Amino acid sequence: MTPRDYDVIIAGGGMAGLITAASLGYHSKGKARTLVVDRNLEAEPGKKTHNGWTCGDATSKRSLDYLAEHIGVRYGSPELEHPVKGVYVYSPDRKTKVLFEGEGYLFNRKLAPRRQVEDARKVGTEFMFGATAERLLAEDGYVTGVSGRKADGSPFRATAKVVVDATGSSSVLRRFLQIPSMIEKEIDPEDVVGTGRYIMEFESGADSKEYFDPDYCIIHLDQFIAAGGYAWVFPKGRSKVNIGLGVSKSALDRRNRMFKLNDNLQTLIDKYVADNPVIKNPRQPQAESDSGNTKGNWQVPVRRHNDCMVANGFALVGDSAWMPRPIDAGGISPSIYGGTILGKVLAEALEAGDAGEAALWKYNVEYMDTHGYPMASFEVLRRYLQTVTNSQINYGMKHFLSEDDVAAITERKHPQFNRARFANPALWLRVLYQLSLARGLRYTVEKSATLVDINLAYPDAPGGYEEWRKRLSKELSETVQKFKPLDAN
Ligand SMILES: Cc1cc2nc3c(=O)[nH]c(=O)nc-3n(C[C@H](O)[C@H](O)[C@H](O)COP(=O)(O)OP(=O)(O)OC[C@H]3O[C@@H](n4cnc5c(N)ncnc54)[C@H](O)[C@@H]3O)c2cc1C
Repeated sequence: MTPRDYDVIIAGGGMAGLITAASLGYHSKGKARTLVVDRNLEAEPGKKTHNGWTCGDATSKRSLDYLAEHIGVRYGSPELEHPVKGVYVYSPDRKTKVLFEGEGYLFNRKLAPRRQVEDARKVGTEFMFGATAERLLAEDGYVTGVSGRKADGSPFRATAKVVVDATGSSSVLRRFLQIPSMIEKEIDPEDVVGTGRYIMEFESGADSKEYFDPDYCIIHLDQFIAAGGYAWVFPKGRSKVNIGLGVSKSALDRRNRMFKLNDNLQTLIDKYVADNPVIKNPRQPQAESDSGNTKGNWQVPVRRHNDCMVANGFALVGDSAWMPRPIDAGGISPSIYGGTILGKVLAEALEAGDAGEAALWKYNVEYMDTHGYPMASFEVLRRYLQTVTNSQINYGMKHFLSEDDVAAITERKHPQFNRARFANPALWLRVLYQLSLARGLRYTVEKSATLVDINLAYPDAPGGYEEWRKRLSKELSETVQKFKPLDAN
């Protein structure tokens, strides 16, 4: 093999890329020669776009514990800004609220990458800041490096045994992958949500836990406020908030047509903030820890993760691998799990001197077995939720959602919606009253279970992939057809 500049180049130093670097350094005991190429200047690592580190900032304690247990990295203040005890989800009529218990934290996404860069440097990672990766280099069916441009416009090229694409949801590297591979390169626009948020300090107006709770994240389901998505009020202190919403473009278009309105993501967010009676006199925080990060919109993929995330000398992680959870667009935990696992597999591949698709395949398998399988099945529930009306959500949350369903979702399992079953005569009337809702939920349960089974049968080696993919496609295409957007052709 021609000598390479590095063992691994990680393009993109955000949440997923920096965790991959830390994990690779940990598992290779600092021996891997790793370069992170990030387009931001060193003073602003991990910045997603010129609007900042746009995120809802919330993640579960469970995923942070996983990171600590597996690579010994334990975050604290200031990168973790505020603890929460769980998430309250409100129905559109606000008459039902459901608690998803489980401790979590609100990150400071601007400060976190600084800590993550330090962690990665401690285990030997080098950085090239202010450099945008534009294309992959390839030779003999292997990815061999990246080329791109530095901040001053001058070109750069660097070679490696493996390139990791961690460039986030707008990845061009994946899209222009030029070697034969089973990686899917394009995402359906229906599988992307537009999201945006403010980080604000405020004076307390009304005292209402429905609109702000310093101890809990709040999610408002409402197809009028956040068509095909949801709106959130996440506390970052007693008088500081991350507030925003996400929408599916086609659902928003439909809602605008239906009500003869012309809203866009930004007008919806502004209205949502203005309508919150607790948040009075909101202002953008002035502290360095928030400056440049108080207002921003960006996109999140909400399908199952890419069914194959490796090729010869190449791997995907984080949003570029479409990892966020389909029902809530949470992509921090998947980046933590994905980056931790990928770092370990890369260290093993380097040790074995084999960076081919088959050697990297273990990453596909371990991610699916650890975190990916229930996430993928949530794709069905997400598709279904995007087709229901506010009154169906009101009814469903009130009558069909049980404590067991809530516990299942919290545990990242799929809910059973047993209250929407015909099998229980006590519930016949309820089921008959909302027949299509009950049927949709039952279909979701059955299809999710099938998808979980398929995911858990993910092939151990590339040879079994084609057969497996056929089985998955058959199940999925039926679901996509059944739950296609209401007025789609
Ligand atoms: C509004 C909003 C709210 C969200 N809320 C939550 C939430 O509350 N909880 C949660 O878990 N998830 C949330 N997410 C999702 C979460 O933010 C992402 O899943 C997560 O940041 C993914 O990390 P990543 O490293 O894959 O990508 P990113 O964080 O986007 O990092 C990519 C990095 O690569 C750099 N880069 C991009 N292109 C190039 C290039 N060509 N060359 C070099 N560098 C490049 C970027 O500048 C950045 O530093 C939210 C997302 C949005 C947009």
